[in-house]
Amino acid sequence: MASNVNSRPEPADEPGDGPVESALDTARRQLTRAAAGTDIDPNIVERLRHPTHVHRVTVPLKRDDGSVEVFTGYRAQHDSVRGPYKGGLRYHPGVTEEECIGLSMWMTWKCAVMDIPFGGAKGGLVVNPKRLSDSERERLTRRFAQELRDTVGPNSDIPAPDMGTDSQTMAWFMDAYSMQEGETQPGVVTGKPPVVGGSFGREEAPGRSVALVTREACDYYDFGLDGTTVAVQGFGSVGANAARLLDEWGATVVAVSDVNGAAYDPDGIETAAVPSHEEEPEAVTRYADDCISNEDLLTLDVDVLVPAAVGNALTGANADDVRASLVVEGANGPTTASADAILAERDVPVIPDILANAGGVTVSYFEWLQDINRRQWSLERVNDELEAGMLDAWNDVREEVEDRDVTWRDAAYVVALSRIGEAHRVRGLWP
Ligand code: GLU
Repeated sequence: MASNVNSRPEPADEPGDGPVESALDTARRQLTRAAAGTDIDPNIVERLRHPTHVHRVTVPLKRDDGSVEVFTGYRAQHDSVRGPYKGGLRYHPGVTEEECIGLSMWMTWKCAVMDIPFGGAKGGLVVNPKRLSDSERERLTRRFAQELRDTVGPNSDIPAPDMGTDSQTMAWFMDAYSMQEGETQPGVVTGKPPVVGGSFGREEAPGRSVALVTREACDYYDFGLDGTTVAVQGFGSVGANAARLLDEWGATVVAVSDVNGAAYDPDGIETAAVPSHEEEPEAVTRYADDCISNEDLLTLDVDVLVPAAVGNALTGANADDVRASLVVEGANGPTTASADAILAERDVPVIPDILANAGGVTVSYFEWLQDINRRQWSLERVNDELEAGMLDAWNDVREEVEDRDVTWRDAAYVVALSRIGEAHRVRGLWP
């Protein structure tokens, strides 16, 4: 494999086996590091280190047994210089204000790398959705929509699915918002079912973009997809769709996993036969003859590793053991700054989340266009435009990698920051 000798990122403070840094720490470190390599005005960088708003709400839920439980929710809005805030809502017990801010920063860069006219936001509820019945999730989502009603809107801030939420969650959210507005407003969220203004291909889009970018990266490093071995951590919407497409396009997917562990077959797994999280939750290991742990999956001797489950999967503690020749980030923030530094030192290219999984927000943008134009696109059109957008973004980032001899992450930041910096410069600081 051709080696691209990248400059080593500054060492992070995070000790190899100590507590893992927060998404906000990682996002800020990445910003500081990437900005140093550009001529963006430091005053604009200072602005971008902070979110514009962080909304905190409490959301009461009447449980099925009649008791009332109160949950905390957030919506962090990072930057809107290029358009309305955009980003997912996650339901997870580990959601924190800091995490939402860090993730909202990544959304700003992601939209800018893709050159779509949105800014960045992220939010969520501190809740384990597995503990809730369907009707509890519906009531909680409707009330959350009500608490966020002054915060979101089709022209101001547009949520979407993320960890623990799905198209049904978005349908309830859109319905609650629309009921209160007195008119149907499909453009208030994306990732809805197509029957209520969702886009064909939105569900598969993040996984499809991971697969497309993996294909381009394999070509770039001269090993092509055919027979390339791939390990995918996570078999939800991102991991399962990426694994299945790569399998279909000729790669040999040797391992896929969920929270219980990984199915492993060195001859290749028939990925279509393993149920995704949406099809049958947490069933991956039930369909496997050989199982390994999630930690072992990350250190398999494969060509491509796709961490597509949770943040902070690759840390200072395990990055030295990664044996893949290429890492493609399916999840948001799966690599800590320490792990990034180690992988760069070892010349293992990491294709960053803000490029690799950006298919989700890209098709969200297509969905929003369809909603405001009251017109549905065919699946073929969505997939064609997604592929064209991904290839443009890939080429923009590749040019920076080649021109500046930097990591793929730094190159993606350079692309994003130049667009955002220029927009801030032209708009100016008011008053
Ligand atoms: N939650 C997805 C992400 O992290 C999609 C966001 C969106 O479509 O707005 O990229």
